[in-house]
Amino acid sequence: MADGTRVAVTGASGFIALHVIAELLDQGYVVRGTLRDMARGEGIRAALDRHTETSNLDFIQTDLTSDDGWDAAFAGCAFVVHVASPVPILEPKNHDDLIIPARDGAIRALGAASRAGVKRVVMTSSVAAISYGHDSDGDSIFTEDDWSVLKPEIGAYANSKTMAERAAWDFVAELPSDATLDLVTINPSLVIGPLIDPDGSASIEVVRKLLAREVPGCPKIGLNLVDVRDVAAAHIAAMTAPNAPGNRYLCTAEFMWLSQLARQLDKEFRTRGYPVPTLALPSFLVRLVALFDPLVARVVPELGRRKRYDNAAIRIDLNWRPRPLDETINATGESLLALKVV
Ligand code: NAP
Repeated sequence: MADGTRVAVTGASGFIALHVIAELLDQGYVVRGTLRDMARGEGIRAALDRHTETSNLDFIQTDLTSDDGWDAAFAGCAFVVHVASPVPILEPKNHDDLIIPARDGAIRALGAASRAGVKRVVMTSSVAAISYGHDSDGDSIFTEDDWSVLKPEIGAYANSKTMAERAAWDFVAELPSDATLDLVTINPSLVIGPLIDPDGSASIEVVRKLLAREVPGCPKIGLNLVDVRDVAAAHIAAMTAPNAPGNRYLCTAEFMWLSQLARQLDKEFRTRGYPVPTLALPSFLVRLVALFDPLVARVVPELGRRKRYDNAAIRIDLNWRPRPLDETINATGESLLALKVV
């Protein structure tokens, strides 16, 4: 057990970070969460209180774009879980709006961790740093050896995650021998699952829009999904697993088409008054609508495409076993209703 070991978690208001914090507290860690807006602390604690005991949690202010507060945030911490990074719903006009906070924030976090004598930093990266920008035929299987190809076409988010992760590995490699630390990255695919706070991530939008019937049906989009509770467990396992330092870990459970996800939601929630649109939308129609709707335009490059990932490393090194996705999909829907998001 954790015996009161102190862990800092950045971006404590976020969907994934809240699950990391809840699980750390459950395991007996003392947690310092960083927030860019301290006014959110009270609401976040109240949300966490519904899941776990929070007397071993405090908050401190840091922003990815400012040097202030980082040294104080990590003082006395054995581990840092660096989760914070912007996750937009819409593509920003200027890619630097994401790239600068993601990349420079990672360097700020690692610099402060090194100065504070932190043993290990676990950083949340993404499959967006692995599989974007390749001419994938759908048959090749991405592994941790792959990196996304930096170019404007992969979008601001994938560029930001790739640059941030690359910068993090370079930074750690260049630390002087008396200031080294271990780095591990967790690279999740699309994360869904129960929300702790109603202010969920952009990744929940796909389930929310289906349950709220804000879409007429399902474009042929392939999703590699993973449960937020399993993503949190991977981060915590990576803090102490002996083989983890120096590794990136693909963190993904299963592939399904969007229409399969919709059918599972419909099966669970139709009888409770939430019929879900399961109609398969022809791709030509989606391309047409994309001409007018920037949200739809974002999915066009993914139409009909399937990406495959190898999750052997995380299973072996972190003894990671993702739960069945039906359970995840149902739990996502339940929490969206319970928190009155839908
Ligand atoms: P989220 O709920 O939107 O959380 C993002 C967090 O980053 C929030 O706490 C946010 O703070 C913080 N943040 C953003 N800009 C910041 C800034 N300038 N300074 C300080 N904090 C800032 O998204 P999430 O899904 O939990 O994502 C968390 C991490 O997982 C990110 O690194 C993301 O790239 C990665 N990831 C997510 C998915 C997914 O499908 N959700 C998949 C792969 C990887 P505010 O609340 O103040 O905005």
